[in-house]
Formats: sequence, C-alpha cells, structure tokens
Amino acid sequence: MTDYDIVRQACIKASPDIEIRTCACGERVAASMPGYHHCNGGARVWLANLAIDEREIQLVDVLLAMGAAGKGDWGITDKGAFFHSAEGRQQFYDEYWNLRINDLAKQPPDTLKFLADVVRV
Ligand SMILES: [Zn+2]
Repeated sequence: MTDYDIVRQACIKASPDIEIRTCACGERVAASMPGYHHCNGGARVWLANLAIDEREIQLVDVLLAMGAAGKGDWGITDKGAFFHSAEGRQQFYDEYWNLRINDLAKQPPDTLKFLADVVRV
C-alpha cells in the first residue's frame, strides 16, 4: 500500500461520507452502509449494486483521521505546518499541507509519508 492509500483508508474510516453511493432517486448513502434502501416510489435498491463515488480527501478529513489515531493533539499553522501538542509543549514538523490545494492526493510526498506514519495504528 502506498502512503496515500494508508492515509486515504484512515480518512474514510474517520469520515465515511468520503465514499458515497447515489441512487437514481437522488438519495446519497455512505458506501459503508450495508443492505438496501426504499426509493420514494417504493422500489427496493440494494446499495451494493450502486457505484461508489469518492470526493477528494480534504484537510478536515486528515485532521479527523489524525485525531482518531489516538496519538495526541495535532494542529496546523496558518502556513500549513503540522504540529503536535502534548502537556503544554508543541513540536512543529517540517512537513506541511499546501493550504491552497485542498486535496490529499496533491500534497507533497514527504507530507504523505508523515501522515501515513501518524495515522498508522
Ligand atoms: Zn433510491
């Protein structure tokens, strides 16, 4: 698995709405939902038969996944630098999020590696 895949999976676990299925009736359901749903007309549609759409993974998803990893408090500066906070002390990292591009897939390789290490359980 690539660093991107590791981070992507952690983000989807923390924010299930990243992967959704859209029924012909317009209803949108998290891809992780099992079973079926009833359309307005009464038809029963198995969710597994609907294609999965994936939106881009954004900084907010990454922060939720970092928090879910249970390794303390993480933050980001207005320059996009990550920092870790514990017991009143903060450690800043060289890895950064490009705040002008809100898409995990377009972040620098060093950042993806750093994030994979943080979210890896
Ligand atoms: Zn439907």
